[in-house]
Amino acid sequence: MKTIAILGSTGSIGTQTLEVVRENGDIRVLGIAAGGNINLLEEQIRMFHPKKAAVWSEEKARELRVKIADTDTDVVSGMEGLIEIAVMEGTDILVTAIVGMIGIRPTIEAIKAGKDIALANKETLVTAGHLIMPLAKRQGVRILPVDSEHSAIFQSLQGNDRGAVGKILLTASGGPFRGRKQEDLLEIRMEDALKHPNWTMGAKITIDSSTMVNKGLEVIEAKWLFNVNVDDVQVVVQPQSIIHSMVEYKDGAVIAQLGTPDMKLPIQYALYYPERRYLPGDRLDFWSIGKLDFEKPDMDTFYGLKLAYEAGRQGGSLPTVFNAANELAVSMFLKGEVKYLEIVEIIEDCMSVHKNIEDPSLDQILETEAAAYERINSRR
Ligand code: NDP
Repeated sequence: MKTIAILGSTGSIGTQTLEVVRENGDIRVLGIAAGGNINLLEEQIRMFHPKKAAVWSEEKARELRVKIADTDTDVVSGMEGLIEIAVMEGTDILVTAIVGMIGIRPTIEAIKAGKDIALANKETLVTAGHLIMPLAKRQGVRILPVDSEHSAIFQSLQGNDRGAVGKILLTASGGPFRGRKQEDLLEIRMEDALKHPNWTMGAKITIDSSTMVNKGLEVIEAKWLFNVNVDDVQVVVQPQSIIHSMVEYKDGAVIAQLGTPDMKLPIQYALYYPERRYLPGDRLDFWSIGKLDFEKPDMDTFYGLKLAYEAGRQGGSLPTVFNAANELAVSMFLKGEVKYLEIVEIIEDCMSVHKNIEDPSLDQILETEAAAYERINSRR
């Protein structure tokens, strides 16, 4: 029986991971961690009987301890709690479904403890890929992509020689504002940006998809996962989100993975890799689809994607600035504190003043994050 722990069990990826676990019936969940949704955590504890659960604040942890006093689950809190879940004895795989850079330390500790990582938390790889990938290699652990595009690339690489790869074709839906220009985006409200045409996801990634910053994060994520230059990752807008991504080989052959938009497929593939199992759900019906469309991304309107290429090309601590500025700017947008177009303006401003650090340590990454936050907060 496989054993797993999940960081971010109450979120979009976390809950879908638990559905995959429930539907398959042969995975044991030993640990779960979440931010503050203790009602859902309680339900999950009663259904999956983990040994440990982590909540971010000690206050909420105390509340949860009272709620589940009749169970055998221990409740821990804070960063120490997250790390305890990440390194739990007996787990084979850590699913990193937490949102944001907060995932870096637990992911690093899990790799040190020899856990395979089913990675959804892209912010971790974007900011600390240069630390995580060599560490994973040294420890002999696998980083299994959960992001649908990266899973599609991973699936398209199976059975082929990595040296034969020409380039990666990373597909994008284009988000809810595809086809619009900057002047059309001036008055975008939160409700508009939270409507993704094809996927239902957490709030932060939904906003990131609308600005195409998400695609930028994915370009950098692909650089680390597949050991390529960012300029060998070409973004192709595929508005129906049916082709989840593709690999072009040196002989010109293109291998793609297609499917209905359902995150349970990449989640299940990561959990059972290399086994491919039955997954309930809709199947593609090409007769009714009729045609697929392709477009070039508009990097003038959605210039967050252009900034991501720049950050990925330069490397060092610049991707951390790109990511950290975006994390704070998006949370400010979600609170109504900045306008939609300011999200990418804030990223650009932080990147423009940053003195890049080559090969930053974990402390330097966290200092860079703090410096970006300080700059944004000082301008409020
Ligand atoms: P959600 O916002 O739906 O969920 C985030 C999860 O992280 C929640 O369980 C939340 O807990 C938890 N969390 C937040 N802060 C903390 C904290 N301080 N300590 C512990 N847990 C915390 O996000 P998604 O599931 O959409 O995304 C998760 C990650 O996966 C992101 O990196 C995203 O980019 C990536 N991803 C998501 C996809 C999707 O389809 N949703 C697709 C591909 C990648 P709580 O709610 O209790 O506060």
